[in-house]
Amino acid sequence: MGSWHPECPERLAAIQDHLISTGVAPHLAYYDAPLASIETLQRAHASSYVERLKSSVPSDGYRSLDPDTSMNPHTLQAALRAAGAVVDATDRVMGGEIANAFCAVRPPGHHACKATAMGFCFFNSVAVGARHALEAHGLQRVAIVDFDVHHGNGTEEIFEDDDRVLMTSFFQHPFYPYSGTGSLAKNMVNVPLPAGTGGDVARKVVDDVWLPRLNEFGPQMIFISAGFDAHREDDLGQMALVEADYAYMTERLMDVAHQHANGRIVSSLEGGYNLSALGRSTVAHVRALARL
Ligand SMILES: [Zn+2]
Repeated sequence: MGSWHPECPERLAAIQDHLISTGVAPHLAYYDAPLASIETLQRAHASSYVERLKSSVPSDGYRSLDPDTSMNPHTLQAALRAAGAVVDATDRVMGGEIANAFCAVRPPGHHACKATAMGFCFFNSVAVGARHALEAHGLQRVAIVDFDVHHGNGTEEIFEDDDRVLMTSFFQHPFYPYSGTGSLAKNMVNVPLPAGTGGDVARKVVDDVWLPRLNEFGPQMIFISAGFDAHREDDLGQMALVEADYAYMTERLMDVAHQHANGRIVSSLEGGYNLSALGRSTVAHVRALARL
């Protein structure tokens, strides 16, 4: 989105560097992300929106879609692969080929609404994956857990009338995108938290609010909108989580997945803009997923 923009290609390089330097990488299976099909995208997005994005690709330079979201000639391909990664991971996990998956993808997705790009997001990859699990694999109950510092307003908009999905989240409030506190939908478990909130409170939210609702719901698969911008070193948010908090949350979600979902988890990268903190937090998350 321009050399100044925090949602930059170096984010994925930082993740891979940390996976290598910590010795985690050799324990993982890597898969290239395919392009998402139009059919899978249309389960979460209006077909007119998908067409509009395709026709918005500039031949060079940038085309601005909102004040902090713009497309370059390669953005559409990247967004299609980000969503395609989550769909492919869902297929591999459902087929029993892999136990769980982390999708190291960008652009992120959880601000993308049915028919609107915003907040660095174009396609809501986790929403596309969750609908794929429901529609193509016949699941009846899927959970989406979002621990990004920003409220996943796009995911909420897509699923607030879909009782096959339970969404649990916490996010800094009041803060961008200034949503998440007005929903009356019973399947949305939103916990707004003030700036400065640290891991002790976040863990308590997980234990006392998320886990009882998740266990009551009994998801057959869990999707994670894994944003790491609630880290205390991340300047795009003002929360104060550390790597161990991401490991803790992931371990608790592993417990839920093993109790109800045969261990099935697909996690996808959302935010996380301090490159070192992003790399370290992702390693903590992936280590927990891989039980390393
Ligand atoms: Zn975020």
